[in-house]
Amino acid sequence: MIFDSHAHYDDESFNEDRDEVIKELIANGIVGVLNCGASLQGARDSVELTKKYGVFYAAVGIHPEFADIVNDDVIKELEDLSKNEKVKAIGEIGLDYHSEENPGREIQIAAFTAQMELAEKLNLPVVIHDRDAHEDTLNIIKKFPKVIGTIHCFSGSLEFARECLKLGYYIGFTGVVTFKNAKKIVEVAREVPIDKILLETDCPYMAPEPNRGKRNRSDYIEYIAEKIAEIRRDIPLNVKNQSISNAKKLLNVK
Ligand SMILES: [Zn+2]
Repeated sequence: MIFDSHAHYDDESFNEDRDEVIKELIANGIVGVLNCGASLQGARDSVELTKKYGVFYAAVGIHPEFADIVNDDVIKELEDLSKNEKVKAIGEIGLDYHSEENPGREIQIAAFTAQMELAEKLNLPVVIHDRDAHEDTLNIIKKFPKVIGTIHCFSGSLEFARECLKLGYYIGFTGVVTFKNAKKIVEVAREVPIDKILLETDCPYMAPEPNRGKRNRSDYIEYIAEKIAEIRRDIPLNVKNQSISNAKKLLNVK
């Protein structure tokens, strides 16, 4: 059984065969998928997916790439969407300093902070996207000690992971841990307490080896669990089962 704690099945790359893929996933033992909104339309579509598929839950939020659209009206709509009982988190939100095309840092920080405030108000966990922005991410999450969440597709050092763990956050592992050049994330996978590990695809992106480069899907999490088990000298079943309880605990799913 698998709980995919971060997916984008609203993505257009699933437009041709979404229903078929999701039926196959359920047949392959997927017991939970947190579909994360990135844009406002993505947040709306994530909620729609939860109405159609029992195993789907949603996170609603605006990705840093679109931080410049965040205003009071957008926050209000996210809050309204959160009233749906299958919305379990605010996300994905955060900071992305990697691409120069993204909105400026001040704009990203303002959008991130506004959505952290919303999570605090609604008592919901957050799904955080942090790319090349570890220090600022940490400074902001520290300002909200009542909020916990997951650092999705974790890409920081072991030191940074320890700081996030201290604040009660979970660490999300994608297919990156299976890549041949993976180094830092392997160290993190070895050290993180088992009760803080989440498995995720970030599909359609980030497919693990041996499917790197293909369209990703939740059943490929098998490869991520195998790799993490190998690193920790554990068995994949234990990693998968523990990550299911972790996801359910964080997202308050029965
Ligand atoms: Zn994502």
